[in-house]
Amino acid sequence: MPVTRSFRGPIDLHTHSSVSDGTETPAELVRAAAQSGLGTVALTDHDATAGWDDAAAAARTAGITLIPGMEFSTRVDYSSVHLLAYLFDPTDAAIVTEMARIRAARLTRAEQMVQQIGLDYALTWDDVLAQTTPDSTVGRPHIADALVARGHARTRSDAFAGILHWKAGYYQQHYAPDPLRAVQLVRAAGGVPVIAHPATRGVADLMPEARLAELAAAGLFGLELGHRENRPEATARLAVLAEKYGLVVTGSSDYHGTGKPNLLGENTTAPEVLERIIDAATGSAPIYG
Ligand code: AMP
Ligand code: FE
Ligand code: FE
Ligand code: ZN
Repeated sequence: MPVTRSFRGPIDLHTHSSVSDGTETPAELVRAAAQSGLGTVALTDHDATAGWDDAAAAARTAGITLIPGMEFSTRVDYSSVHLLAYLFDPTDAAIVTEMARIRAARLTRAEQMVQQIGLDYALTWDDVLAQTTPDSTVGRPHIADALVARGHARTRSDAFAGILHWKAGYYQQHYAPDPLRAVQLVRAAGGVPVIAHPATRGVADLMPEARLAELAAAGLFGLELGHRENRPEATARLAVLAEKYGLVVTGSSDYHGTGKPNLLGENTTAPEVLERIIDAATGSAPIYG
């Protein structure tokens, strides 16, 4: 039998810091999570683990449990699928190599987008760099912040709805592995993979039963069905499949600080589910602060 642990408060397994596109440093984010009354928080920056150490130190001081994680960019055809990866070994060579490849591709893609946008709007690459920290995973949110700073959009969300929307014509893809390979990499590194927001408009159609069955067979562990962007019909369909394939169901905020309206703890995960995630992981350990 697995050890029964007690978690002191609500559990939120999906948040972003300034290491990717959140607005708080990892330490600030962990302190905000403790202050908001959460008992456990996972740090899941896009394609990066650079925040783990600072988040762990802050968790020990703030007295909150930290689950180190990452939101792994993957792709099916022309659409991105995000895979939450918990408690893997951050020094695993295959994962490190893949993360570096994705981050490099993101950088090139962001530069190309900015070059194209710069033909029509006053915007430079330096404007975007001013919105990042040295080890941030650069993405459209940083371009959005630069557009806001230049007065071309009112908020980050406005930039996403306008200039950064694929319909505006500046959108570009970046390299990302397919979800099956990402699941295999995370498992091989001792981690636990959960598909992020699988019932959103863009992702739900990419998750027919056959693909889920294949991912489950490769070691997919769960589906994040509690997420504000999931759509009710797709969530209901995926809940049935989660049951059928023995996948756990998580719920999380996808907090980005002031970068998105999502609030810490707005969706949470059951303690029994977190126990199963911890018991399945061999790559790294939670920080019980
Ligand atoms: P990218 O991966 O560079 O294409 O950018 C996608 C990221 O932008 C995701 O991680 C989202 O969290 C973020 N994002 C998407 N839509 C919005 C929005 N409307 N407002 C703020 N952030 C967004
Ligand atoms: Fe994000
Ligand atoms: Fe995501
Ligand atoms: Zn996210």
